[in-house]
Amino acid sequence: MPISTMHPTIAEIRGNLDALRDWRRDLHAHPEIGFAETRTAQLVADRLQAAGIEVHRGVGRTGVVGVLRNGTSTRTIGLRADMDALPMQEENDFAHRSRHGGRMHACGHDGHTAMLLGAAVHLARTRRFDGTVHFFFQPAEEGLGGAQAMIDDGLFERFPCDSIFGMHNRPGLPVGHFAVRAGPMMAAGAFFDIEIDGVGTHAARPDTGVDPVLVAAHITVAAQAIVARSVMPVDTAVLSITRIHAGEAYNVIPARAHLAGTARAFSKQTMQQIGERLREVVAGVAQAMGARATLDFRVPFAPTINDADEAAFAASVCAELVGAERVERDPPLIMASEDFSAMLERVPGCYLNIGNGDVEGSCEVHNPRYDFNDEALPYGAAFFVRAVERKLDAHGAGAA
Ligand SMILES: [Zn+2]
Ligand SMILES: [Zn+2]
Repeated sequence: MPISTMHPTIAEIRGNLDALRDWRRDLHAHPEIGFAETRTAQLVADRLQAAGIEVHRGVGRTGVVGVLRNGTSTRTIGLRADMDALPMQEENDFAHRSRHGGRMHACGHDGHTAMLLGAAVHLARTRRFDGTVHFFFQPAEEGLGGAQAMIDDGLFERFPCDSIFGMHNRPGLPVGHFAVRAGPMMAAGAFFDIEIDGVGTHAARPDTGVDPVLVAAHITVAAQAIVARSVMPVDTAVLSITRIHAGEAYNVIPARAHLAGTARAFSKQTMQQIGERLREVVAGVAQAMGARATLDFRVPFAPTINDADEAAFAASVCAELVGAERVERDPPLIMASEDFSAMLERVPGCYLNIGNGDVEGSCEVHNPRYDFNDEALPYGAAFFVRAVERKLDAHGAGAA
């Protein structure tokens, strides 16, 4: 987009792009795994404090909350970014690559943190709103329950929100584009373990034991019937067994086998149904083959459900910034999960996607060559700024 036709908020934030890029690359070079984001939290707290924003540390262990009040209105809005990196080896060789072996910002949470910091600093300076903004810098999004940890720490009692917004970068969507939908956006996620107890014996005399490897194989196949035969065909779900561990030798039937995997669905009911059916399949198949098996089925991620009104609001903020033609209103459902869902279960809000670029060679999140696209920083920061200025508009009406 040429500068002349750029939305003034994006243009203003772009004026500070060097600083935003520096923060983002500094975070990228120093990735920290969930609940170990001490340096990241320190950097966030320092930047917020320098902007004159009230800071609360240690919310949900390594989480940070910034509070910015202006005017007299009691209206509130929550904005959330995740801060954690992944336990994987980066394969990029640019200057801001990870300084730590086995740790990498491969999901762009460095960019999310920088965008929310950019918005916070901008709002603290311009103060074109009437009410209270809560900036939630969340730890441990990648499967460790950081959102829940903040909630368990009294997040919404201490920092109440009328509505809440978060965003994730999306590779494949051009920079300066957004995608948002009402209702389900991302799937609920379950992880499960299956322990199978057989009777170990000589591999040449299977009749003298109970082979847990064969039981594991039958359970693996039978489990695929759950989505195919039990879940309603118009519903969307998937079950994957991703781990089969048993045995050490060519000629020994082991005593135990272990299966593990994940299930995804877009409603709590469907996820519950999958869990119940899997329990029956596991116990039934094992019993039929003379073994015993137990299932541990955990659902750490609720489905990410956007409130219809807040999704419409978010889409209208995006359209104001980049034009309606750059806002995808009905993107496909995403089978991955997101723990912002825990916050959306308590407060109406919206989770949206921001384009990370669609140039050749730009790769998916969780890829060892992934990098957040710094060109997206002003768009994401501007979204948060305009969401605040319109929700907490200075006339007190609260634009919808
Ligand atoms: Zn991720
Ligand atoms: Zn992520």
